Amino acid sequence: MKLLTDFSLEELKELMASYKEPSFRAEQLYLNLYMGKDFAEMTNVSKALKDRLVAEGYAAVGVRILENYVSKLDGTVKFLFSLNDGNIVEGELMRYKYGNTLCISTQVGCRMNCAFCASGLEGLKRNLTAGEILGEVIAANRFDGGDLTDRKITNVVLMGSGEPLDNYDNVVKFLRLVNAEKGLNVSYRNISLSTCGLIDAFDRFLEEDIPVTMTFSLHAALDEVRSSIMPVNKKYGVEKVIDAARRYFDRTKRRVVFEYSLIKGVNDRQEDAAALISRVKGFPCIVNLIVLNYVKERGLTGTSRKDAYRFSGLLEKAGVAVTVRRTMGADIEGACGQLRAKYIKNN
Ligand code: SAH
Repeated sequence: MKLLTDFSLEELKELMASYKEPSFRAEQLYLNLYMGKDFAEMTNVSKALKDRLVAEGYAAVGVRILENYVSKLDGTVKFLFSLNDGNIVEGELMRYKYGNTLCISTQVGCRMNCAFCASGLEGLKRNLTAGEILGEVIAANRFDGGDLTDRKITNVVLMGSGEPLDNYDNVVKFLRLVNAEKGLNVSYRNISLSTCGLIDAFDRFLEEDIPVTMTFSLHAALDEVRSSIMPVNKKYGVEKVIDAARRYFDRTKRRVVFEYSLIKGVNDRQEDAAALISRVKGFPCIVNLIVLNYVKERGLTGTSRKDAYRFSGLLEKAGVAVTVRRTMGADIEGACGQLRAKYIKNN
């Protein structure tokens, strides 16, 4: 099946031209698609055109909300999205003072197999297309009562399931689609791309000139520790990741983020803090500490809150910018991939 949200406005115009439709049709269709409407709901598009699209195997909607869980504590919404082939991915809508951030998935599963993450438990099933990744944003915007004049999703983070740079072409196309002015118009500055550090793909990404916030999942500054929890480190070690972050800063002058999930007894020791400090000191970055979310199948435990603050204190004292991320939606569950794993098991 071909998905119409995979098309940019330009591409829709070409398709409509090939159908000998007037050019305003493309924009009409585009607006409907970005509102999340299926063919039946597109009242301003002729039946003949819709029939032709269906007959030629086009789908208008690629992502549907299968389930949603709303946190009573802070309004966070966890989504289970279903794709047209029955696969499931998850996303999360978090509410902040400055706007709403949607965390989305880029792959069904993941092949990075980090020792603490639920997304990689069963490997990679498939990549999402650009239009499917976009479909998550469209669905969440609609869920929250938004449209294209009143957009409810102001920020997007690529931190759900999957490794964005392992699905390079689709992710780059998605970034251009979600940024498009007549569409959801999410500014690059409001998008965070998180990577475990696929440096060759990252260097390609640098050349695209898409100035998103870059987030590197570091999780350890000592190679032996990082290799023990992130297999990718055997190819792209700590130094390569930090050098890449420097290149990003040099080119964009945007401060990069290092993600660091604190795992009890693994990467939260004094020597881990010391190694981290010596690696990043003086470099315009921010270390984002988060206490590891417990994933039953993985058997690693998060550092206690108290020890997390001790760790952050060490960084602060050394002049490294650091935050300890607060937990959101604690009552609705969720580290990456956990909800999906649970759903699949129970259904
Ligand atoms: N593959 C990308 C983006 C998806 S994961 C990446 O590696 O950056 C988003 C973030 O959540 C990453 O920093 C990842 O390491 C982290 N993460 C995964 N499982 C986690 C868990 N159980 N607890 C805390 N953070 C986790």
